[in-house]
Amino acid sequence: MHNTRMKSRSNPNEMPARHTVPLADALARPLQDLRISLLDQCNFRCPYCMPEAKFHSEYEFLKRQQRLTYDEIIKVAAAASSLGVSKIRLTGGEPLLDKNICELIERIVTLPGVEDLAMTTNGMLLKSFADRLVAAGLHRVTVSLDSIDKDIFRNMSGGRGDLDQVLEGLKAAGDAGLGPIKINVVVQKGVNDHTILELLEHFRGTGTIVRLIEFMDVGNRNGWQMNQVVPSRELLEQIQKRWPLRAVGKNYPGEVARRYEYVDGAGEIGFISSVTEPFCGDCSRARLSADGMLYTCLFANQGTDLRESLRKGADDDEMQGILSSIWLQRADRYSELRHPDLAEHHVLKKVEMYRIGG
Ligand code: SAM
Ligand code: SF4
Ligand code: SF4
Repeated sequence: MHNTRMKSRSNPNEMPARHTVPLADALARPLQDLRISLLDQCNFRCPYCMPEAKFHSEYEFLKRQQRLTYDEIIKVAAAASSLGVSKIRLTGGEPLLDKNICELIERIVTLPGVEDLAMTTNGMLLKSFADRLVAAGLHRVTVSLDSIDKDIFRNMSGGRGDLDQVLEGLKAAGDAGLGPIKINVVVQKGVNDHTILELLEHFRGTGTIVRLIEFMDVGNRNGWQMNQVVPSRELLEQIQKRWPLRAVGKNYPGEVARRYEYVDGAGEIGFISSVTEPFCGDCSRARLSADGMLYTCLFANQGTDLRESLRKGADDDEMQGILSSIWLQRADRYSELRHPDLAEHHVLKKVEMYRIGG
């Protein structure tokens, strides 16, 4: 029987008791990470995530009252941290479209057990936010940047991104102390794969860690085809020819990127190879959408509605119980079971990436 230390509490400000033994799912994976999507809107229309044809001016995003309030988010985050979550990431949509985000950061960072609070952003608004994010307590940022070629970058943002503005945001984040900064690069064959060496060259020796991500079949709207995926091992071979690399171990259990460092000392890069080298065996992440659905896999076809429970008055102990029972039943391992043929035909209905933020 799982060892919890649940007790009823009279003081409503008291946080749920922390578990003495990590909560493990049906495949013995602990719950360590929570990704919180703050809103489903975005100032980009990356074709691999929110293609403009589907996310047009008439598209109906969540209304304010459909999104979780900060109090509700804190309730879920507190319950998650009481169950062993120590790493929290804010994401979206684009999280920096939430102008009050610093208020939420101030509250999350003080939750007992939260050791690492990070954010994934497209970086367009980062320059104006960087100092305030640090002051609020954010530890790190990951910035998505698919190419260092201005035109390719712009196309991959759906015509909305400005490379110089993102680079200024990156500099401001570094100056403010939001490092080590990571760069997420979605690699798509024939779109940006021929610009990867140039991008790596730009960041070599800067302390910024570039992570090359295989284009994934998330959701059902991005027209994913297996032949658009560049297997990480092909990229690795290509990079090795230019700059010899050596593998380095994981920073922590559950880290999804395979890490390498340049032999000449110019820093570190990583590969996230969900399609060709799945890492489900280590996956310790839960994802909360802006409207309060909890998903236990990036490719889930259903989640659990926490908003309903929250709005019916679930207290901290109940929320802890709900999360705990969801995690105990979890057996997701989509990437290990993926059939590219089925994925190309979008046979399975899956949650969209812009709703759960990667
Ligand atoms: N808007 C923010 C951003 O782009 O950084 C946060 C949300 S975005 C959904 C989170 C991450 O998911 C980004 O790094 C993005 O590149 C990645 N992503 C989105 N769609 C993807 C796909 N089909 N395959 C691989 N990565 C994807
Ligand atoms: Fe927006 Fe991020 Fe999706 Fe691009 S990847 S459309 S920036 S949510
Ligand atoms: Fe985790 Fe699901 Fe990705 Fe596997 S497919 S690593 S279970 S999110």
